[in-house]
Formats: sequence, C-alpha cells, structure tokens
Amino acid sequence: MEKLAFFVILVSTAFGQMDFVGDQVLRVRANGEEQLAWLKELGALEDLQFENKIDFWRSPSKANLLVDMRVPFHSLQAVKVFLESKRIPYTIMIEDLQALLDQERETMLLARKSERSVGEFSFSSYHTIEEIYSWMDDFVAENPDLVSKIEIGQSYEGRPIYVLKFSTGGDKRPAIWIDTGIHSREWITQATGLWTANKISNEYGKDASLTSILDSMDIFLEIVTNPDGFAYTHSTNRMWRKTRSINAGSSCIGVDPNRNWDVGFGGPGASSNPCDETYHGAFPHSESEVKSIVDFILAHANVKSVLSIHSYSQMLMFPYGYTQEPAADHEELDNLAREAVAALKEVYGTEYTFGSLIDTIYQADGTTIDWSYKNGVKYSFTFELRDRGQHGFVLPADQIIPTAEETWVALLKIMEHVRDHPY
Ligand SMILES: [Zn+2]
Repeated sequence: MEKLAFFVILVSTAFGQMDFVGDQVLRVRANGEEQLAWLKELGALEDLQFENKIDFWRSPSKANLLVDMRVPFHSLQAVKVFLESKRIPYTIMIEDLQALLDQERETMLLARKSERSVGEFSFSSYHTIEEIYSWMDDFVAENPDLVSKIEIGQSYEGRPIYVLKFSTGGDKRPAIWIDTGIHSREWITQATGLWTANKISNEYGKDASLTSILDSMDIFLEIVTNPDGFAYTHSTNRMWRKTRSINAGSSCIGVDPNRNWDVGFGGPGASSNPCDETYHGAFPHSESEVKSIVDFILAHANVKSVLSIHSYSQMLMFPYGYTQEPAADHEELDNLAREAVAALKEVYGTEYTFGSLIDTIYQADGTTIDWSYKNGVKYSFTFELRDRGQHGFVLPADQIIPTAEETWVALLKIMEHVRDHPY
C-alpha cells in the first residue's frame, strides 16, 4: 500500500502540475457530536490513496462549526453517499476546483505579460518565489535608508529565508514581527505581505501614525515564510500547505509549520500522522523554517508583537490555541482585537470574528502565537484573511489589494497600541 502511494506521487510529479479536475469543495455542518465524529473518520480513511484523500480546508473541530473539504474527483461519489447515509447536510462550495485554478493561472500569465511590457511589479497579481525574491532586491535597493534584507536561515531544500527589516535607526529597538505564507497555499497572505512592504515604504514620512511607529520601533516582515512549500504550490501542487521535509519512516512529505512550535507540542490539536495536513513533526522546531524564526526572535530579545498571517475565514485571534485557560492579558488582547476588526470593517465592510484561538476556531497545538506569547511577546495575534469560503485558498487576484488595504488598517491599529503601551 505504501509503495503504491509512493508510486502515485512519483508519477504525478514527473508529469508536472497535479490537476484537480472534477475535485469539489464541500461545505458541511455537523449537527452534534456523532456527525462530527463521522466527519473526522472520513478524513482518516486509510483506504483512500494519497491523492484521493480528503483535504480539509476547514477541519472538523466542533459540532455546528462549518467544515470545508476538498474531495478529489475519484472519492466524490463515495463521500457524498457516505454523507447522505449519515444524514449530514452539505452544499457544494466549489463545483470544479481546476476551473478556478485555470482562471487563476491565466490571470497570472496575463499580469506577468503586462508587468514585463510596463516594466513594473504589480501588487494586484500573484507571483512566484523567484519573482518575489527579485522584487525584494529591487525594493531594498530603492529604499536603502529604510529597508534592509536579512537572511535568517535556509529552508529544508536550501532556499534562503529572507526577512525585510524596516528601521529608521537605533540598536535593537522594540520590534513588530509580521509573517505571511507559513502555510504555502494561502497565496493571499504572501501577496498581502508584498503590498504591505510597499505600503510601509510609501507611507513613512507621510502618514503620521506609521511615521511615529517607525521613529521608535522596527518592523520585521517575512513574506515567504515557507519557501519550499510556496515553490511547490507553483511547480506541482497548488494545494500544498506544509513544509517539504522528508519524514523518516513515511512516504508522506512535510510538517505543518503551524503545529511545530514548542508550546503544547504534540497535543490533540495536531496530528502525529506524517500524512496529515496538521502533522506536528518529529520534535518541536524540527522545521528549519520554524527554527529560524525562533532563533531570530529569541536573539533579538525585544520583539513586542508577533502578527502571523493566514487565510481564510476572516478571523483575528490571540492566545491560546492549546488550552482553554485564558491568557493573562486576555481582556486587553480581546479589546484590541475588537478595535482592530471594527477598523478593518470600515474599509470595505468585511466582517471578522475574533477571540482566543481555541474559542474562535478549534484547539490547535504548537502554533506560532502560543509560542511567541509564552516567550514574552504580549501582542501576539494571528489573522485569517479573506474570504469566508466562496473561493477559499483560491482568492481571485482582484481581491488582493482590497484585502491588503483592509488588513493594513487592522495591523496599524495593533501597532499603534504596541507603540502606546510599552512593556
Ligand atoms: Zn494557515
């Protein structure tokens, strides 16, 4: 069985892009614990071959919370029959995933063409890692007084891991850390990171609020936080979430880098199965993509805020994810989150839910913000950007700028609070 699965993977990569023709994304709401258990079971079906496995876009966690799942074409009939037999209601959220992906690719190619003819980088389209890294070099060269590029480590496959540093001087000023794209398929996040970098350089010296933030603090922005996974979403499998490290004793690749941190590591809100999308890895910080950030933040020793950006679902969350116990600063974080989502909504009417991670989505163990909070970074938040599922991870490029604009307002709200509440 394992050999066969391995063979399937080899064949599909040998022929390039994995296709998702006929794959559907189903939206399901489990009524009660029994139906929830059935859904979990569905995800764990071992007799589904690797490529026919169900891919949860929003995992089954609590009864009555929505679950979104990508069902490969070959499993579709069986899964629908199963849901109907258990009387679990579902709707079809995405009719044919490949049709969306074809559109996405076409838009990207068109944008690339016009970028080349105009000779200008477009923030309203999606880009490859090569394009992003090359843009970074130009960006740093054009803004030498404000921006520098730091290599904080290398990915499993040896790609450099870059962080942009925005600083107006001083030595180890209090700092804001922002990362996007730790889950590689969440393309709206890296795109938002790019727009945000550009925004910071444009607004410094013009926008009073941002200027005052940068006059006393530094901002670190890691745009491609999972370089191998991101490259793989472009070359081979658009739906890749994890890192690309090899797991000893398994043919399944990769670790969930947002379950790999050393707080609550290995708890029930993560998987011990290397074939699962939430596999926590062999040990805490096993992934160099995670370890690089850990080392950087600990060595810096003056990071005051960690803002880790994901998609999708429209949520703003703070610690904890690994325990029901409220964080010591729960009330302050909750109030700040409320203000931030209210400000965000004012831009385009986009509605966010907010709260502690465990209350807002589900128990998640070994996450970035639990680690940062436990390591003294009080203002630790995680965003889930647009949308609420209409396109899921395949958010059309024409939503990049509006998403980045509204997110910026919330980021600024948090950064202002950090500036005004030194600790
Ligand atoms: Zn994510």
